[in-house]
Amino acid sequence: MRHPFIAGNWKMHKTVHEAVVYVKEFRSLVKDIEDVEIVLAPTFTAIHACAEAARNSKVGIAGQNLHWEKQGAFTGEIGAPMVREAGADYVLIGHSERRQYFGETDQSVNRKLGAALGAGLIAIVCVGETLDERERNQTLAVLDRQIKDGFDGITGDQIAGLVVAYEPVWAIGTGRTATSALAQEVHAHIRQRLRQWFGAPAADQCHVIYGGSVKPENTKELLAQPDVDGALVGGASLDIKNFFEIVNRSRG
Ligand code: PEP
Repeated sequence: MRHPFIAGNWKMHKTVHEAVVYVKEFRSLVKDIEDVEIVLAPTFTAIHACAEAARNSKVGIAGQNLHWEKQGAFTGEIGAPMVREAGADYVLIGHSERRQYFGETDQSVNRKLGAALGAGLIAIVCVGETLDERERNQTLAVLDRQIKDGFDGITGDQIAGLVVAYEPVWAIGTGRTATSALAQEVHAHIRQRLRQWFGAPAADQCHVIYGGSVKPENTKELLAQPDVDGALVGGASLDIKNFFEIVNRSRG
């Protein structure tokens, strides 16, 4: 049985102070929620302070990115053990903004995933098609490529413990959400591929979550789909009440 998994991606928002104020208030709001895995992804500079503020609470902390090397001459980058040491238990990999603006590829996603797993981080691997790819009927082929190449060399056991976030690029930050039927269709396809390529335990245990303009009003319907195990929330997670409402509405 997969419990709901709700993650907030703050992108390049919130100072350390703002982030800590949020986490302190949020941990008390969710203190009695046992049945949802809740994660917040602040900027790198706020990870440590947020992890301290979230200590012994229901809130986990994620990095938004990492480098595949542990250390070295890579100015401006951060290695997986450093993200972990700062206090993160999770990390986002291959977010579409990273793919779109920073040249990330399925190959770099694959290397980063290996690094994250090596450092003991739970990876939230983002996949999804652009509007152009959808209009050219390439959605499932794009996802197949992103999963095949992104997860190359990763074992079924490792995949069972990670999270795949399906985020259609045309729905991110646009206010345009995939319908619940469309999300279900794609999530079922992803799960079927995980089963085919990595085995039943990987497919049954891996969380496949949806991202793209999730807000309190559409949470229940999306999460009611059998293969939608949670949500990756951008804009709506910046507001504590909205994010709490999303967590609340994700519960069965
Ligand atoms: C995201 O950043 O992963 C995201 C889904 O953003 P938004 O919820 O704002 O569309």
